[in-house]
This record gives sequence, C-alpha cells and structure tokens, in this order.
Amino acid sequence: MKGNRFLFMSMIPVSEAISIVAEQSQPLPAETVALAHARNRFLVEDIVADSDLPPFDRSQMDGYAIKATDVENVPAKLKIVGESAAGRGWHNEIKAGEAVRIMTGAPVPVGADSVQQVELTREVNGNAEVEILEAVARGRSIVTRGSEIKAGETVLRAGELITAPTMSVLASFGYASVKVARRPRVAVLATGSELVSVEQKPGQDQIRDSNNFTIAAYVELAGGQVQRLPLAGDNTALLTQQIVSAAQHGDVVITSGGVSVGTYDFTKPALRELGATIYFERVALRPGKPTVFARLPNGTLFFGLPGNPVSVSVTFNLFARAALLAMQGAKETALKNESAILANKIKGAAERESYLPATLSTDDNGVLLASSLKWGGSSDFVGFVRATSLIVVPANTQVLEAGTKVRVVHLPQ
Ligand code: AMP
Ligand code: MG
Repeated sequence: MKGNRFLFMSMIPVSEAISIVAEQSQPLPAETVALAHARNRFLVEDIVADSDLPPFDRSQMDGYAIKATDVENVPAKLKIVGESAAGRGWHNEIKAGEAVRIMTGAPVPVGADSVQQVELTREVNGNAEVEILEAVARGRSIVTRGSEIKAGETVLRAGELITAPTMSVLASFGYASVKVARRPRVAVLATGSELVSVEQKPGQDQIRDSNNFTIAAYVELAGGQVQRLPLAGDNTALLTQQIVSAAQHGDVVITSGGVSVGTYDFTKPALRELGATIYFERVALRPGKPTVFARLPNGTLFFGLPGNPVSVSVTFNLFARAALLAMQGAKETALKNESAILANKIKGAAERESYLPATLSTDDNGVLLASSLKWGGSSDFVGFVRATSLIVVPANTQVLEAGTKVRVVHLPQ
C-alpha cells in the first residue's frame, strides 16, 4: 500500500504530507562547536552533570551560619569566629556558641546547620559577637550539596534546542564545546519571469521578488544556512540547471512559484527531467495545494512551494521547517499548537484543510481567542504580516461560527 500514494499523486491530507516529510528527513552528521556559538543549535548528545549542584552546602542569604539550638531563646549572643565569602569559605568547624559571618553563595561551615539572615541580627562588642534576634528552623537558608542535581544525572537530552538558559547548564557542567547537528544548507530559488530583484524598479508586468527573503528568514529561524540563487525566470532549461547547481551545495533546495498547472509552471517538468523522485505534489491544503516535495537524484531534498507569498509562509512552516528541524535531530518538529475560541465567523473549503491567518488574544476569563485576519486571500502578504498563528479549519467545513473551539498553530516570527 505504501507505494501507491506515490503512484497516483492524488491530493493527500496535510497530516500525511507531514508524515512523508518526516520519513524522508534524516539527521545530518554532528559537529562540535564552542559553547559561545551553540545557541539555537540542537544537542545531539545527552548532557550529564559532572558535579553535584550545588557542589557544597550553600548559603542562600547574607547572614550568620549557626547552630539552630543556640538560638532557641532569643536574643542570643554568639561569638563570631570567622567569615565565609563566595569563593573563599571558612574551613573549620563551628562549635556551640559560635557563628560565622556568611555571604550569599558561600559554603556553610561544618557544624553549622542554619543561616540566620543579616536583617535579624546585630553585631555587638566591637564586632566580636553577634546578637541573633529571632530563632531559626534547622536547615534554614541552606541549599544542601546535590539537592538540585546529583553528579551523573542527565540534565538535558539530545534533540533539545540550546536556548539562553540552556547555556548556563552547559557552562556549569563544563561543556566548553558541545556536539550539535550540522546546520542544513538550504539553497533558495525563485521562479517566475515577472520577477526582478529588490534593487530594481519593476518594469511593465513585473514585480519584485519577495519570496526569497521570506523563505531565507524562515530557514534561518529553523536553524538552516541560506544560499541565495539568482532568479530563475520561467524557463525549464535554466531552472533545471539552477536546481542541479543548488543541489550540489545544498542539503535542501526550496523554490517558490511555477508549481501550478499554468502553461509556464516549469518546476515539475524540471524535476522530471532531472529524474527526481516526487513524493507528493498536491496537498489538501488552503492555501498551498500545489506544494511539491521531492528528492533529487543526488539525495538532496526539494520543496517546490507555490508562488503566492502567503502560501509560501504556510507551506514552508508546515513542511520545510519540519524537515530542517528533523535534519538537526530536533525532538519537536511540529509547530506549537493549542486550542482557542473563534472570535469571528470563518469559512472553510471543500476537500481541503484551511490554515487561516489569525491573531491571538485572551478574554477577561483568560480564554484564548483566535481572530481571523481581514485579508485579501493568499496574495495579501501585507495583511499577513500581522498574523501570529494560523487557524486550522477541517476540510469540508462550510462555516465556523464565532464561539467555536478551533485548533491554532503558532507561526515562528
Ligand atoms: P505562481 O505559483 O508561479 O503561479 O505564482 C503565483 C503568484 O505568486 C503570482 O502572482 C506571482 O507573481 C507571485 N509570485 C511568484 N513568485 C514570487 C516571488 N518570488 N515573490 C513575490 N511574488 C511571487
Ligand atoms: Mg510563476
């Protein structure tokens, strides 16, 4: 059965297209990068603590390390026998009737079982003694060794994204360099004889290429490295040549335009000429029905996205993004989704699942609301800028009234 879906090239559901992309996207080889350059990369190794955290009993407060039994009756006067500062502890044993001045982050001396905060104390006798003004519970303001993490514990897993807070974890456990997946190299190519570059003033019947910029930005958000190719026009020979050269440098080629059924839609003819394996070429999706996913003979993956800029954003994020993340070994490749209540009435489509641009807000009761944008369809890329998510409307839904519960997926920004 599995082969049949490739044979007939019927329109396939979005979920099936996503599964095919996942099946075909293999992790790239790992590389080692310096910690300072590791942000936004994906771990390919589990991260193991090389020490307890905290590595010693640590004071949470500025104050006095004491024995709780010494201050059951307050005020209690204790002899100050030393000072423990962060990075310079006091390494003797505290005896009954003694206190050590201690700072936040400093090691608690042996023999002390609590720290009383400085605000509840007063030094007397020319700083030789401290008066503790309130009793403390045993263990107060001490974080005991290993209570957060034990040496040998796995603290992060392969497939996790390295974020700003992740950096602290890696640094704390001595990962001066870290093994991450190589970033996918992505060649981006726009088709269409109407296109001129951003520096040019469009002549008659021309428009500026904008898709290459959006695709490149999304590729970077998904961790890829972009290679921009010259505009390809609508010419099978030129397109074929461009795809071949793109494939030589890239792990993935992403084109826009030329995938519909018009006379000048040359992307699929070019793929056929090259002997590519086409996995799907019609998805039950609005916008984005003519999306193509293929593999070139040298193994490079190929996404042929439709030309409309909004279709580009939707199809990139549903399909190409997932591939780029899977190639980096990401644990989570799907767009974040949640349920929301529709704020306004929307229309669905026959046979196709719709992904409609929306903004999200919460009402007075904390309920998430999805408002579909007033917009002019899949060519309204100016209106689309305000969208932070897409409302998913099941296929064959005529209308969804305000108040209906819907699924929304978040767009990367
Ligand atoms: P196509 O899928 O090639 O028929 O293109 C559909 C629509 O998207 C047409 O109006 C194109 O002019 C427009 N379009 C195609 N490629 C781009 C691009 N790179 N930048 C902006 N608009 C484009
Ligand atoms: Mg075109």
